Amino acid sequence: MSSVKVAVRVRPFNKREVDLGCKCCVEMSGKKTSIYNPQTGQRKDFFFDYSYWSHDAFMIDPSTGMFEKDSPGSNYASQSMVFDDLGKEVLDNAFEGYHTCLFAYGQTGSGKSYSIFGYEKNIGIIPLACAEIFKRMEISQAEDPDAIQYTVTVSMLEIYNECVQDLFVKPKKRPKGGLKIRETKKDGMYVQDLTKIPVVSYFDIDEQIKFGTTNRTIAHTDMNSTSSRAHTVTTITFQQTFFEGGKPTNKTSSNINLVDLAGSERQKDTHAEAARLKEGSNINKSLSFLGKVISILADKAAGKKSAKNAVVPYRESKLTMILKNALGGNSKTAMIAAISPADDNYEESLSTLIYANQVK
Ligand code: ADP
Repeated sequence: MSSVKVAVRVRPFNKREVDLGCKCCVEMSGKKTSIYNPQTGQRKDFFFDYSYWSHDAFMIDPSTGMFEKDSPGSNYASQSMVFDDLGKEVLDNAFEGYHTCLFAYGQTGSGKSYSIFGYEKNIGIIPLACAEIFKRMEISQAEDPDAIQYTVTVSMLEIYNECVQDLFVKPKKRPKGGLKIRETKKDGMYVQDLTKIPVVSYFDIDEQIKFGTTNRTIAHTDMNSTSSRAHTVTTITFQQTFFEGGKPTNKTSSNINLVDLAGSERQKDTHAEAARLKEGSNINKSLSFLGKVISILADKAAGKKSAKNAVVPYRESKLTMILKNALGGNSKTAMIAAISPADDNYEESLSTLIYANQVK
């Protein structure tokens, strides 16, 4: 079984956009997200499972087509509201034994890390999920301490230029060519020698993830001085052993994959040099194969004739190889498409919405 939930989230204006006098080109109402072409005024509508607004000003007045300040955005969603809609379902799935993947897709600076990791007090889906997972385990243990035994481990990796590295290993100690991806009948695809740390509390897991986050590769482009050009995959492996009369009767193991994708922007916008161009083509390749894999799997699950014999191109990128077990078969997928509200980013936001529309 495979199913995909898609949410679009528009972040507030940033200082650069305000300084440039950018106008808002995005509008949301219910499940509908509309984007206006700033040159022609032409509107395109998209429908997603969720459309999240992040601030309550700068709406477009539909009767005049003018950009209005201070009209309330009914689609406003805080970090905890996004978590309630998407994160809790990820955990429900994990407790039911499904693998899950939650991706954040969008151009650099559109709010992917904000949604997945969060900043300062505004913690994102990963820390909220970690807190909730241990809360649920405690409740279950309090009800019947002998019924289920839980084991939780965490791993973190990044894929930079098609090279896989362990984020729990300091950069200087990492193997030069990166980690190898292996496949066995029993375990499916896995990353050889990836560190998996057992964790027993929220503080434990939070500390490990903070350590991993500080080890991420940060490269500079003209567009954003701290843009991440790597995909970051955080995996919480959640095992449940069920007992009856003191004897183990059943075991489930689910991977919760939370993926902060590299910026989806096209390289022409960043005046990229040779090295950046190589990065860019690897990023575009893996994002495009990810989209293909998800949409073929969704079509297969929906019983579409055209997808019946379609080959799922897992092997075309490291990202899809690593996530193979969690995308196909016994799994659930969710995506947050992050966009800027500003007309200056219209082309990139439109391409993010088209991508999100294709995977749903
Ligand atoms: P990305 O990971 O896509 O490069 P970030 O998540 O780092 O982008 O977001 C860029 C900036 O925008 C950050 O300063 C972040 O705090 C802010 N931001 C992003 N999304 C939101 C949001 N939904 N609400 C408030 N601030 C946001």
